[in-house]
Amino acid sequence: MSDHVLVINAGSSSLKYSLMDAGSGAAAADGVIERIGEPQGHRRHRGPDGETESSDPIASHEDALRAALKAFETHGPSLDDVELAAVGHRVVHGGARFGAPSLVDDALIAEVSELVPLAPLHNPANLEGIEVARRLFPDLPQVAVFDTAFHQTLPPHAYTYAVPSDWLEQHGIRRYGFHGTSHSFVAEEAARRLGRDLTELNLIVLHLGNGCSASAVHGGRSVETSMGMTPLEGLVMGTRSGDLDPAIHGHLARELGWSIDEIDRVLNSASGLKGLAGENDFRELSRLRAAGDPRAELAFDVYCHRIKKYVGAYYAVLGTVDAIVFTAGVGQHSAEVRAAALQGLERLGIRLDPGRNAEPPGTGTVSADGSEVTVLVVATNEEWQIARQALAVVRR
Ligand code: AMP
Repeated sequence: MSDHVLVINAGSSSLKYSLMDAGSGAAAADGVIERIGEPQGHRRHRGPDGETESSDPIASHEDALRAALKAFETHGPSLDDVELAAVGHRVVHGGARFGAPSLVDDALIAEVSELVPLAPLHNPANLEGIEVARRLFPDLPQVAVFDTAFHQTLPPHAYTYAVPSDWLEQHGIRRYGFHGTSHSFVAEEAARRLGRDLTELNLIVLHLGNGCSASAVHGGRSVETSMGMTPLEGLVMGTRSGDLDPAIHGHLARELGWSIDEIDRVLNSASGLKGLAGENDFRELSRLRAAGDPRAELAFDVYCHRIKKYVGAYYAVLGTVDAIVFTAGVGQHSAEVRAAALQGLERLGIRLDPGRNAEPPGTGTVSADGSEVTVLVVATNEEWQIARQALAVVRR
């Protein structure tokens, strides 16, 4: 029986796909269709013959998936030959309803639709991807894998905001957390690296990409995480502010006459590193710092200071920590961020080895021998985790 899963991540104007061997984690092919609905679309497919690209209009998500299937047909590998076991869909918000990956049926679609107000940018696009894949693969099981699911184990004292209690009961206003697929993959991988059972470990996972989040993982279960009802809360990110005084919203609205939509837009798309230094790409930010740009320097300091605060907080939540795990673009590649974020935490048993930390290729143990807390760098692989989880659901 084939272990191949087609993983689909549908965004508002893009559709990413990967043909994964859920057993080995090998991607037989992947690609992305971008600028759906714009005058000129763009597609890229990487298969056994290398990479191909083309530009032409792609009117809808259905056309995008058809274009992907055509790319499989033309450039390989043939989907008929691999015998797909399932289609796995990334779904951003599963609310309090979904604590695990779930088989797609009409009821699931209705429930995910009800969650649209919690993720108005993401869930409609994810649903569109599911609907299209159901039409084009009517005989294949489809599995929804939720970004929020891993954090459904947060205890009430961690997920509850101190606001009138009917906000939670009537409007679902609470912390959900995101990047769960990455946090769960990285936690499992850390246990494998440490040669220990995940159920006996306390981990702090730092997913530092364009979006950033931290989690405290106790025995394989997420007990704290930095993103909240939406992905805006927590760490400083590429374009998102992370934590800020909620009274700032009122101030901007009252004093400057800003609309709620404008405030939302700026905090999500024009804040974080971009807001502070004009640049959200960390490699570019590093170049600006190296050139002596004071705004880039401050942005770096704010970013690392926030990570350090979360490490301290999650240390306190967990009581003891076996490992701190860095992942995603910045976490994996920026030795400077790891060093600055963990600097001065020796009394907590956290000691980096500067040589190991600076070593490429950026995966492995970077703490010093004898450091009570092991510091690991792990490459996340959300597609593989989605494929594994989707396969587990259909094999249940
Ligand atoms: P991700 O969302 O995981 O793809 O991460 C994207 C972020 O990682 C961007 O800010 C990139 O600039 C950053 N990044 C990728 N490679 C490197 C690198 N070699 N050094 C520093 N930052 C990097």
